[in-house]
Amino acid sequence: MPVEPTAGETTARSHLLDFTTEELELWLDDFGWPAFHARQVRRWVFEQHVRRFADMTDLPSGLRRQLDEGFAVFVADEVERSNAPGGTAKLLLRWPDGASTETVMIPAGDHGRARRTVCLSTQVGCNVGCRFCASGIGGMRRNLSVGEVLEQALRIAAELASRGESLTHVVFMGMGEPLANYGVTVEAVRRLNRALGIGRRRITVSTVGLPKQIRRLAGEDLQATLALSLHAPTSELRRRLIPWAEAIDLDAVLDACREYFRRTGREVTLEYCLLAGVNDEPEHARQLAEIATGLRAHVNLMMYNPVVELPFVRPSRNRAIAFLKDLRAAGANAHLRHSRGLEADAACGQLRRRHELPAG
Ligand code: SF4
Repeated sequence: MPVEPTAGETTARSHLLDFTTEELELWLDDFGWPAFHARQVRRWVFEQHVRRFADMTDLPSGLRRQLDEGFAVFVADEVERSNAPGGTAKLLLRWPDGASTETVMIPAGDHGRARRTVCLSTQVGCNVGCRFCASGIGGMRRNLSVGEVLEQALRIAAELASRGESLTHVVFMGMGEPLANYGVTVEAVRRLNRALGIGRRRITVSTVGLPKQIRRLAGEDLQATLALSLHAPTSELRRRLIPWAEAIDLDAVLDACREYFRRTGREVTLEYCLLAGVNDEPEHARQLAEIATGLRAHVNLMMYNPVVELPFVRPSRNRAIAFLKDLRAAGANAHLRHSRGLEADAACGQLRRRHELPAG
């Protein structure tokens, strides 16, 4: 006979998405419910996108009540939303402790080839402090939990499902350094694959380059794509743009990326944000091409999205295309990513920053 919970056990509701199916089974067992209800709950949440336990109609009503007292499926409030033409949407989510993070949905293609990508945050703020990034201003407040990372993806998946579309790709490129929140990132990748059905090869983990963690990731059998946020082709320039690079030798980072490729067979992507007059000279293209060909890596060029308080400038489209041509001429496999960000405050941290800045 199921046991009614006492009031004291249920005053603070837990985040359901922090619980694996096995952990939910244990919780059910504590109250005398059979384990199979955990799989039913999981189906309702991840496949049907149902958020209210009251709507999980194949569960006994007593269990629905108990789940509602013990758990919340989503715990964040959507504080603000910024939409850009073309469908890019950025959500600002506020967590129960008042911390806020950003999540972006980026559409591409249509009909049979539709690609719907969610860009996830893994930390509140960021300690890496890249000079050109709004997320680094103010440092890092805390890591996000697995449930908080999954909630971002599930919110977007539910929104897409409501208009007959599916989430197809996930990138860990939002606020924070994913490999500095290592355990959560790895567990989130596994559960995005298992529970939400996102193919592991469609999941990209981005890093500023932590050699030890990259090697560890290579041994996880995740099959995820690794993206190195390079942004500068020399140690000297990189140290100027990325404070954490002071303590991390670029050669050590590239060695770790080579090992990732060797052990996983997964091609590494080099992310390179073009900053006018800083890292977009022909010489930089030649140096970058040398790194990319040496790693057999693909280069993803982005044009900088300006941040109000920061001195960096977006290069002209012609300049970016010239850089791309130089890269290709030097043998690199590269492409220039469409900027869908200017109208949606889509550069990392900008919506949160704008929201937190005093008006006027
Ligand atoms: S670009 Fe990424 S790693 Fe750098 S400060 Fe911003 S969030 Fe952190």
